[in-house]
Amino acid sequence: MPIYEYKCSKCGPFEQKQSMKDDPLTHCPTCDGPVQRLISRSVGIVFKGPGFYINDSKSDSSHSKDTSAS
Ligand SMILES: [Zn+2]
Repeated sequence: MPIYEYKCSKCGPFEQKQSMKDDPLTHCPTCDGPVQRLISRSVGIVFKGPGFYINDSKSDSSHSKDTSAS
């Protein structure tokens, strides 16, 4: 679950763990004041898990299987 950074005008910056389908916060959970969402730094969101993989193994496509066919 990604962590978003917000900045409250009273409390200062804080982090909030949210689901990606949740709406962004508009009010501080501490003081109920207005918050501003910050763009997260290079730490960012890492896509891990099923459905995401790096396809960088081009060299072993059909190297070991087509020797016994003919
Ligand atoms: Zn606050």
